Amino acid sequence: MPKVSVMKVFDGHQLALQIEAELKQKIQRLKRRPQLTVFLLNNNPESQLYVQKKKVLAERIGVNFNLIQLIKAETNPVLQLIKEQNNQRSVAGIMVQLPLNRGLNERKILDAIDPQKDVDCLTSKNLGLVAAGQPRFLPATVKGIMTILTQEKVVVRGRQAVVVGGSNIVGKPLAMVLSNQGATVTLVRSSEKNLAQITRQADILITAVGRQNLIKASMVKEGAVVIDVGITRCDNQECHVYGDVDFKRVKTKASLITPVPGGVGPLTVVSLFENLIL
Ligand code: NAP
Repeated sequence: MPKVSVMKVFDGHQLALQIEAELKQKIQRLKRRPQLTVFLLNNNPESQLYVQKKKVLAERIGVNFNLIQLIKAETNPVLQLIKEQNNQRSVAGIMVQLPLNRGLNERKILDAIDPQKDVDCLTSKNLGLVAAGQPRFLPATVKGIMTILTQEKVVVRGRQAVVVGGSNIVGKPLAMVLSNQGATVTLVRSSEKNLAQITRQADILITAVGRQNLIKASMVKEGAVVIDVGITRCDNQECHVYGDVDFKRVKTKASLITPVPGGVGPLTVVSLFENLIL
């Protein structure tokens, strides 16, 4: 008899709404509304869109949202502003929306955030804690992905996990978290020549690159869990958002797959606010 595999398309919006409702209740029980300060240091429309999404969610759940937007800032004045936010007791969390304008010292700016308020887990100190298996926070996207795996009861321990893309905010910390949870992890960078050979080994395949159709059905093991973080926007009039995975074809092989949009994205936004009220 042919093997019948049960495939599930994960609904990120539904789970995010559930978490949002829980967050709202928790915030109502706090003595003071927490404040999140977001630094937007460019005028890139995509970054503005992400910041806007955070602002809308903050307002819905009762978080004070403070946006500091500087289009032509230099590193030192930004460091000074971050210091001021670090020292304000009313500020519970601080994040810097990436990417930064060219010329700004990204590492210096991120490391200026007080690690206790670093709710996007971008400081070297907090990333070090993730590597050591003692996280204070997880980067929002990584937390969102781990929430999906937990919600869907995906066993991580003893499985082959392949993470494609090695950024400091997604791929690298995700690989560390999966490894700390007992998976055998391969972290793939752009220099890899045999991507398909590696992805075919994955029980859990997570891709965070930003290249449409990078992962084709022939590159995926039957029954794999496929998490697509990538986002590519097309520029033509019928603008649409794509992930890294050839969703239509890969979903016939995967046991669980996240769509783009509507998969990891909504979980990333709520995860930031989960960190804020930790
Ligand atoms: P990033 O800084 O854009 O870097 C991309 C990474 O992909 C790099 O590590 C690069 O490796 C790697 N890469 C490029 N081509 C590759 C290939 N052919 N094979 C293997 N690796 C390759 O990364 P990011 O900030 O993590 O973003 C990745 C994608 O996820 C983007 O599309 C972004 O928009 C999206 N994203 C989505 C969410 C969400 O909530 N859904 C959150 C964050 C990011 P090298 O460094 O070796 O060149």
